[in-house]
Amino acid sequence: MAPERPAIFLGTQVVATHGQWAQRCQQLARQFQAAGLQPGDRLALFMRNHVRTLEVMFGAWWAGLAVLPINAKLHVREAQWIIDNAQARWAFVTADITSDTGEDLTGLERIVDVDSPEADALWQGPGPNETPFDTPVTERQPDDLAWLFYTSGTTGRPKGVMITHRNLMTMGLAYFSDVDAIGPQDCIAYAAPMSHGAGIYAIPHLMAGARHMVPPSGGFDPAELFALGQQLGPLSLFAAPTIVKRLVDHAEATGLTAQACGQAFKTVVYGGAPMYAADIQRALRVMGPRFVQIYGQGESPMVGTALSRHHLQDTAHPRHAERLASVGVAQTPVRIRVTDAQGQDLPLGEVGEVLIQGDSVMTGYWRNPEATAHAIQNGWLFTGDMGCLDADGFLTLKDRSKDLIISGGSNIYPREIEEVLLHALGVAEVAVVGAPDAEWGEVVVAFVVPQAGHTLDTAALDALCLQEIARFKRPKRYQIVASLPKNNYGKVLKTELRQRLG
Ligand code: AMP
Repeated sequence: MAPERPAIFLGTQVVATHGQWAQRCQQLARQFQAAGLQPGDRLALFMRNHVRTLEVMFGAWWAGLAVLPINAKLHVREAQWIIDNAQARWAFVTADITSDTGEDLTGLERIVDVDSPEADALWQGPGPNETPFDTPVTERQPDDLAWLFYTSGTTGRPKGVMITHRNLMTMGLAYFSDVDAIGPQDCIAYAAPMSHGAGIYAIPHLMAGARHMVPPSGGFDPAELFALGQQLGPLSLFAAPTIVKRLVDHAEATGLTAQACGQAFKTVVYGGAPMYAADIQRALRVMGPRFVQIYGQGESPMVGTALSRHHLQDTAHPRHAERLASVGVAQTPVRIRVTDAQGQDLPLGEVGEVLIQGDSVMTGYWRNPEATAHAIQNGWLFTGDMGCLDADGFLTLKDRSKDLIISGGSNIYPREIEEVLLHALGVAEVAVVGAPDAEWGEVVVAFVVPQAGHTLDTAALDALCLQEIARFKRPKRYQIVASLPKNNYGKVLKTELRQRLG
């Protein structure tokens, strides 16, 4: 690899070459070791997206430590719970994470604010007349812990997902086999939280010697990303469907052609939540063929299925519409099955639980053998997602099993209704949940967000449902709301919507 090539950017400003990045990793590793941190110890990162994230992550791995990523939007007390549960020894933080509450983290040997002079001292490399540091990489085994990722925990306490070096290597290689080719001229933008999948996508981009860019805003600002893409060359990024939608809105509002979008973006990998067929069709129309979908979960990070650029574009295929609504086919390193509650394979087309097996699947939950035994049985990960396979291996997700609505004894998958309602004039977003009902067990309720300047007529929505889906699936009630509750990764919190319905 060329050590003098720029590697890490803050916007358009180079903050490290590949050589400097490696030097800083060694420098940090040397100091972790000097402080007595041992291979396998957990080092927390409770930071908004920051250029130093990459150096801390890879510096920790250089010293054989396990990285404990914590979403910067969590409350300090939630982060504290994770830190205590994982028994982290050090934490790297950005000042903003505690400023809202004024509460500090406790129980750590050292807390380093990455923007402080204390951090600058840790980052201080050898002087001009000193020999470069030479800290050997601490050797680790494929099954050693590398990334301890706590699930978002919409119900109950979050669980620590143990991701090993083998899992991360598999994820990195699967990017090349199933998502995209990467070259040294490429540039990944960290617009989604680096504590999640977006952060570990650093691995394939580092393998390929590509560039890494943290936007100065630290997050997702469509205008900023378009501008940075124009200046740095087309960007690749991971984006949740809500973010894709905002990119497309921006392109449309500013009248950018698909060709102009291609100058700013090479590849937008989307996943993490359902992408409705109408939305991806519009994205392809406005921004052109620069999308790839992945389906995975923290327990098999970024690796499950992929819907390739080719499949998204293959409009001549007789089942193109179904494929657009699917999450694609199993990624190369894994196998996928759909089973009934007893773990028996279901015939093609029948909906059951999605199971994943392969080298990307976690070894288990941190110090939680019970939850591990529930999630991994006979080497297969039970994802909790419901879906069905077609004869070509395309997986279509329905809903998570807990979001399924059972009304009058019939199973209703909310997503099917959401897909229909999204086609209605003036509808921006929809979430369908079940509300308890004495007669039916549950009834279907749709929360609908109107587009700006539109007033929704629920009779028209009902008429559309009557035209498109079975009568019993129609929402019995509509609630027009200004926005939907979402978690820090942009996923709609259906648990919260159900609570509203009592
Ligand atoms: P997390 O563990 O927080 O990454 O959440 C993973 C969950 O997000 C999965 O189990 C799915 O329910 C959902 N998910 C991930 N990718 C997709 C996708 N491409 N389409 C629909 N849902 C997805």
